[in-house]
Amino acid sequence: MSEARPGTAAPSPLVKVQVVVIGAGQAGLSAAYHLKRRGLAPHKGFVVLDRSPEPGGAWQHRWPSLTLSTVNRIHDLPGMPFSEALDTTATELPASTAVPAYFAAYEKRFELPVYRPVTVKVVCDRGDRFRVETDRVQFSARGLINATGTWESPYIPDVPGREQFRGRQLHTKDYRTADAFRGEHVVVVGGGISAIQLLDEISQVTVTSWVTRRPPQFRRGTFDAEAGRAAVALVEDRVRRGLPPASVVSVTGIPVTTAIEAMQARGVLNRLPIFSEITEDGVRWPDGTTLRADVILWCTGFRSSLDHLAPLMLRGEGGGIKMTGRLATQVSKDPRVHLVGHGPSASTIGANRAGGAAAQELMAFLAEH
Ligand code: FAD
Repeated sequence: MSEARPGTAAPSPLVKVQVVVIGAGQAGLSAAYHLKRRGLAPHKGFVVLDRSPEPGGAWQHRWPSLTLSTVNRIHDLPGMPFSEALDTTATELPASTAVPAYFAAYEKRFELPVYRPVTVKVVCDRGDRFRVETDRVQFSARGLINATGTWESPYIPDVPGREQFRGRQLHTKDYRTADAFRGEHVVVVGGGISAIQLLDEISQVTVTSWVTRRPPQFRRGTFDAEAGRAAVALVEDRVRRGLPPASVVSVTGIPVTTAIEAMQARGVLNRLPIFSEITEDGVRWPDGTTLRADVILWCTGFRSSLDHLAPLMLRGEGGGIKMTGRLATQVSKDPRVHLVGHGPSASTIGANRAGGAAAQELMAFLAEH
């Protein structure tokens, strides 16, 4: 541990700390900032382990055309506004370079003990401590703040026939540029904001069809802070009851932007219901109707990346992890574990707040026990 430096893989074989934070995206960095601010020593008291070789969390993998003007909104990390690291008026900057540059400056400013690339393989309960096994070094910790996001767990629904499709099947995660689809018929599946953004770009260069499970709920008018809180409260209520968290769009609806109005005018938002089967050369609905396709682009969301926590058996009968605590970041079954950037905190503002709540509650719990 003593030789380890942030930004390099930790070299020692077993490192004992109070808290391990897993993941250095918005949620993990916020948690790290608050742990340090509350007096936990970087390196000796806590470490942040991040799989990615570079700072930036999942933002570094977003498609190049997602810019600071086309993201919903990226909330500042605690203690240092985005504008201190970058010119925020340069709205055409790709989010995939701007946000990582901000995170890198943030890690440096607060001298956060981020070790990378370090992948946490599995976490086991060893009585009064957790054993955190990574591809580099093993850690022993009294508490865990898990901030591994969702990007590494793309979700694709299990539709019969998927394996026989002779065209290409991609997920949002794989998307780079619409030009890759020129001349092809692309079926975009999904009713969220990413689906609509990609449909917008692709439909400007080739033929598209749009398929969603439920009729999309477009929302006109402003979405104020109160409406935002109400939406988050619905997701929070689910995780407090031990249910899997719902997607944010399922509770907020899709705001009608000028881009969406233009898409409506171009006739590309004529939504079809989800098909029941995938054939060799397209998709088929229950009434036998078929549609030929070269590409199926699954914009069907992500799930929390939590496989490494499986030995802790945190999931309950409801299929989700029952959460408690001020902002529902604490795992009911094991109060030494906090999940941040999960469920109600799966947004940049939610991740920020969750990091603060988790740091405070976990340190109080460890002090008491
Ligand atoms: P991430 O940024 O994914 O960070 C997780 C980190 O954990 C990564 O660095 C990863 O490498 C690491 N990791 C994962 N597994 C392991 C492991 N086993 N061991 C070690 N490290 C690991 N929110 C907004 O507020 N505004 C927006 O405009 C917005 N746009 C979005 C657009 C898209 C396409 C998507 C998918 C999401 C968007 N969100 C947006 C949601 C937002 O990006 C996240 O909720 C937020 O950034 C919180 O990130 P995080 O820290 O939870 O996860």
